[in-house]
Amino acid sequence: MAASLIDGVAIARELYAGLRERVGALAGRGVQPGLAAILVGDNPASEVYVRTKTRACAEVGVHSEQHRFGADGSEDEIIGLIERLNADLGIHGILVQLPLPPRLNSERILQAVAVRKDIDGFNWCNLGALVAGHPGFSPCTPLGVMTMLDHERIAVEGRTAVVIGRSVIVGKPMALMLIAGGATVTVCNSKTRDLREYTSRADIVVAAAGKPGLVKGSMLKPGAVVIDVGINRLPDGKLVGDVDFSSASQVASRITPVPGGVGRMTVAMLIANTVMAAERHAAQSPGT
Ligand code: NAP
Repeated sequence: MAASLIDGVAIARELYAGLRERVGALAGRGVQPGLAAILVGDNPASEVYVRTKTRACAEVGVHSEQHRFGADGSEDEIIGLIERLNADLGIHGILVQLPLPPRLNSERILQAVAVRKDIDGFNWCNLGALVAGHPGFSPCTPLGVMTMLDHERIAVEGRTAVVIGRSVIVGKPMALMLIAGGATVTVCNSKTRDLREYTSRADIVVAAAGKPGLVKGSMLKPGAVVIDVGINRLPDGKLVGDVDFSSASQVASRITPVPGGVGRMTVAMLIANTVMAAERHAAQSPGT
């Protein structure tokens, strides 16, 4: 293997140590960061994600609570809960676990989360702040990728980057963050005619398509940095990314594994955003 691994588990562990200190400082002011997770239906993958996030909260001393609705939970009931959580002084971050059942209007539900508690960064105000380069909450997965690159001292400025995928939660914000970092960015999608034409010229490839084995070593520039955001469950139960790891790792200089890569960073960023929300709240509430 030519590439060296970018270890999301180790980087997240370091980040948690820093977050524990910040949580300790908040405790000195009588504030414990609080995260509320909302789950609708019984999607097994969502159950796993929420359990992982709850464990991470416990690891750094963040209060966490879960609110569950059956698959028949109504939009109005869910929004009613969000409004109560928006007003709850003990809750600093609200997470609506996606995907929601298709019969629900996800946008209406996500937009009900108060901007100051939108630790997933999906509220249009926070997405707009990202576009304009203003501080806000940024979506956790691309934020995790940028934090990883920074931690590994992988320069973005002046480099060419290809983002595969244009979703609102990963691809588009990823492209915006890379642009803000000074990269020259191409965003590919399912209609892109020749993916290889773009990936083979890129210094950094971020794969976020949800297609196992989409990016092969033969599609990469030698020495490229490969960030695999994809999480795909194969029929045999194995978890893989969008990158064919065995061929890509022969060509890349750095590569993230799945599992143990970007997924860990996403969770760490969610907790980091919750702690930041609590710090902002404490700063605006003299006497706490
Ligand atoms: P999504 O909403 O389904 O978007 C997938 C994007 O990939 C779409 O823009 C689609 O293009 C594009 N695409 C699909 N096939 C393609 C192809 N052959 N060539 C180029 N582009 C292609 O998915 P998502 O929510 O962004 O998630 C993407 C992947 O990341 C999934 O595997 C998901 O599980 C994973 N994920 C991981 C984390 C993490 O923490 N590691 C977090 C979130 C998501 P069109 O727009 O043209 O359809």
